[in-house]
Amino acid sequence: MKESATLAVGARAAAMKAQGIDVVGFSMGEPDFDTPANIKRAAIAALEAGMTKYAPTAGDKAAREAIARKLQSENGIACTLQDVTVTAGAKHAVYMALQTMIEPGRGDEVILPTPAWVSYRPLIELAGGVCVEVAGAMANGFRATPAQVQAAMTPRTIAILLNSPSNPCGIVYPVRELKAIVDVIAANPKIAIISDEIYEKLIFPEIVAGTAHWSPGSDPRVADRTITINGMSKAFAMTGWRIGYLCAPGANGQFAKEVIKLQGQMTNSIASFFLPAVVEALAPASAAAVEEMRAAFASRAVLMHRLLSAIPGFRTTQPTGAFYSFPEISQLFGRVSPGGVEIDSAQAFADALLNEAHVAVVPGEDFGECARGHVRFSFACSPAQIEKGLARVEAFVRSLKAPASAGGCAGVTSRRL
Ligand code: PMP
Ligand code: GLU
Repeated sequence: MKESATLAVGARAAAMKAQGIDVVGFSMGEPDFDTPANIKRAAIAALEAGMTKYAPTAGDKAAREAIARKLQSENGIACTLQDVTVTAGAKHAVYMALQTMIEPGRGDEVILPTPAWVSYRPLIELAGGVCVEVAGAMANGFRATPAQVQAAMTPRTIAILLNSPSNPCGIVYPVRELKAIVDVIAANPKIAIISDEIYEKLIFPEIVAGTAHWSPGSDPRVADRTITINGMSKAFAMTGWRIGYLCAPGANGQFAKEVIKLQGQMTNSIASFFLPAVVEALAPASAAAVEEMRAAFASRAVLMHRLLSAIPGFRTTQPTGAFYSFPEISQLFGRVSPGGVEIDSAQAFADALLNEAHVAVVPGEDFGECARGHVRFSFACSPAQIEKGLARVEAFVRSLKAPASAGGCAGVTSRRL
C-alpha cells in the first residue's frame, strides 16, 4: 500500500531540520500547542499511582463513560459506554471500522467525498473495499451535494465516510447540507455512515456566522448505522498520546463488540495510565484551554487566507474549520523552478518548494483525483512562521519561469500570473 503522504512530507521536513536547514513546516496536521497541563497531570498521577497494568481492551469504565456522556450531551448521540471503545488514535478507529464493515472479495463500495484525508482510500482498499470518490467542487466550497451522493450509490454501496470539519479542505458543512446528505442515506437502509469528527471543536463561527458542528449519529433515522469517530489529537493538542475513540450504538451492540474483538487481537487497550487523561480532557476543566487554541486557529485561518490569496497563481477558499488551507495551483503547471524542476504536478511543486525554498506542504494527489491541482497547508504553526513561510512561497512562485521551449519571457510571465 501507499505510504501516508502527510507523514512522508513531515518526515522529510524533520530530516532536513535535523541537518540544520531552516524549514518552515506546513505539512503536519499537528497543533503546535502543548497538551494542557491538567491533562498531563492526570496521566502523571495515574502513572505514579501504579496504573501500569493492562486495562480492559475497550478502555476502563471511567473513560468509556466519560466519552459516552460527552457524545450524549454535546452531540446528541444516544449511546452507552458499551457502544464505545478507546483506540490508539482516531486513525486506528477508522481502520477498525472499515475492517469490521467490509467483506473482502464482495466488491463492497465506500463512498468518499473528496478531497479527503490521505489515509481513507488506502484503509478502505486494505480492508478489501472499493473507494468511490465523490468530488466536491471548489466552486461549491469543496462540498459534495446530496445529488452527487445519490448518483454514486450502487447495490454494492455499504457505507459513506464523512469528515466535517474537513481535512484537507478546512471547511465545515453547513448543518442543513449535511442533513440533506444524511436524508439520502436515511432512504437507503443498507448504507452505513462513518463520521470522522476529529476536528469537531475547531470551527470558526467568527469567520462565517452560524458555522456549527452536527453529528449524523444524532439523527434517529440513521443512529443505529452510524459509527462516530473522534479523538484527542487535534482539539486537545495530544497527537503524540495516540488516543481516539469510536462509538457504534447500533446493531444491538454487535458492531461495537466486533470492533472490540478486533482491537483485542491487535493492540488491546491504549496505555492504561492515559485513560484518566481522557476523562480529564473531556471534563469542564479543559474547556478554556481548548477554546484558547480554537480562537488562535481561527485568527490564523484569516491570516493564512489573506496571505495565500495574494500569491499569484493560487486560488483558495477561506478556511472555516480544522487548520488547513487547500489552494489550487494548477495555473503554475508548466513553469520551471530556479533549480530547473518542471512544475508539472502538485507533487513536483511541493518537492521543488521544499528543496529550493525550504517550505514543506503536502501535494494534493493523495487527497483524491480532484485534488491533483492542489497543495495542502496546515496552519497549526505560529503566525510568525506563517508569515515567514508564505513570504518564501510567494518569492518561490514569483521566481518560476516559463519553459525555455515555450519561448516566453520570464519577467512578463511572472507578472501575468
Ligand atoms: N481523521 C482525520 C480527518 C485526520 O486528519 C487525522 C489526522 N491525524 C486522523 C483522523 C487521525 O488522528 P489520530 O490518529 O492522531 O487520532
Ligand atoms: N492527520 C494529520 C495530517 O493529515 C497527521 C498526519 C496523519 O496522520 O495523516 O497531517
